[in-house]
Amino acid sequence: MTTRRSFIKWSALSAAMVSVRNSSAKKFSIPSSVTKPIVISTWKHGQDANVDAWKILSAGGRALDAVEKGVMVTEADLRNLSVGLGGLPDRDGHVTLDACIMDEWANCGSVAFLEHIKHPISIARLVMEKTPHVMLVGEGALKFALDHGFSKEKFDRTPESDKAWKEWLKKAEYKPIVNFENHDTIGMVAMDVNGNLSGACTTSGMAYKLHGRVGDSPIIGAGLYVDNEVGAATATGTGEEVIRICGTHLVVELMRQGKSPENACREAVERIVKKQPEKSKNLQVGFLALNKNGEYGAYCLQTGFNYAVYSNEIKNEMIDGKSFYK
Ligand code: ASP
Repeated sequence: MTTRRSFIKWSALSAAMVSVRNSSAKKFSIPSSVTKPIVISTWKHGQDANVDAWKILSAGGRALDAVEKGVMVTEADLRNLSVGLGGLPDRDGHVTLDACIMDEWANCGSVAFLEHIKHPISIARLVMEKTPHVMLVGEGALKFALDHGFSKEKFDRTPESDKAWKEWLKKAEYKPIVNFENHDTIGMVAMDVNGNLSGACTTSGMAYKLHGRVGDSPIIGAGLYVDNEVGAATATGTGEEVIRICGTHLVVELMRQGKSPENACREAVERIVKKQPEKSKNLQVGFLALNKNGEYGAYCLQTGFNYAVYSNEIKNEMIDGKSFYK
C-alpha cells in the first residue's frame, strides 16, 4: 500500500533521479566533432539492413526506429539461413526465433523461442512498449504477437531450410561450425542526429540446436547492450560463450573505462579465451561496438567476421573485424 510517507519518499527520489539525469546529460554532452548519424551492423547482410536504417537516420529520425526497420530487412529475407523464418531449424525441424531491442533510456524488450512470426524484432519492441516486462518466450510470446494483430506464418520451413535440415538428419551430428552459414545473427547499433543510441539483435539462433535452446541474441547484456552515456554493443557467434561473460554489457563497461570500441571488443574476446582456451579455438564470437563519439570497432575470435558501416562519410562499406586467432 502506498502510504503518504512512502509517496513523499518516492516523489523526492523521482525528483532526484530527474536531476541526475539532467546533470548526466550535461556531463555527457556531445562534442561537435561526433560522427552522427551512424549505423553499424554485423555481417554482409548488414549492408541491406543499413540502407533502411539510414533512410530513417538521414531524415533525422530516431535511432530506435532505424534499428527496428533496419533489421526487419534481414528478417524478411527468406534466403537468409540464420535470421527470420528462412533460418535453419532446430534438430526437431522447428525454426525458433530470438530477438531484442534497447533504446536510449535503457528501455528494452525481448522475445525468445518464438515460432511462426515474420518480425520478432517488432514483437520485442511491443514487449518493451506495451508491457511492464522485458522478455516473453515461446507460446506466450506467440499469443502476445497474435493478440497485437501479427499474423502467424503458416509454413514450418522454407524449401531451402527444409532441404538442409533433411540432409543434416542423415547424420544428425551436432558440431558448432566456426563462422559459416550456421551462425550469422544480425546485430545493429545506431546513433541518431540527436546523439541518442539504440540497438537491435535478431536471429534464428544456431542451426540444429536442441529444441528450446535460447542463445545470447535476445539476452540484454549478452547479445545487445546500450548505455546512452557511453555506447552500444552487439554480438554474434556462439551465444553460450557470449552469455558466460555478459559480453555486450562487458564491452560497454570497458568503453566507460575509456577503452576504444575495438579495444573493448578485444578485451571481451580475450576474456572468452582466458576462461576456456581450448574450446575457444573452435568457436566464433564477434563483438561490434559504437561509442558516443561515433567511433566504432569490432573484434572476433576467428577471422571472417565483418560488419557494415553507414554514415555521412562511409557509405555502407564492409569492414573486416580483427581476430584473436589468425
Ligand atoms: N549468437 C547466435 C546464437 O548463439 C548465433 C549467431 O550469431 O550466429 O544463437
